[in-house]
Amino acid sequence: MENKETICQSCGMPLNMDPGKGGTNLDKSKSDKYCSFCFQDGKFVDEGTTLQGKIEKNIQIAVKMGMPESKAREQVETILPTLERWK
Ligand SMILES: [Zn+2]
Repeated sequence: MENKETICQSCGMPLNMDPGKGGTNLDKSKSDKYCSFCFQDGKFVDEGTTLQGKIEKNIQIAVKMGMPESKAREQVETILPTLERWK
């Protein structure tokens, strides 16, 4: 059994923190991999973005939420490259 917390495989957000309860697949079923901010109707909301672009965007969001930039950068740069979307 998989015991670790399920996080969005695009941005790293815990899916249980997603107010939309997960992205949606093309057939409108819920995605168990991506959050509602990243994935809608079977495609990425920010299709075409690069890993580096996503890292910078995530850092900005974390800083807005009150995290110091150095800490945000460290976390985001550790997590994002391991996610399925960016492999
Ligand atoms: Zn996401």
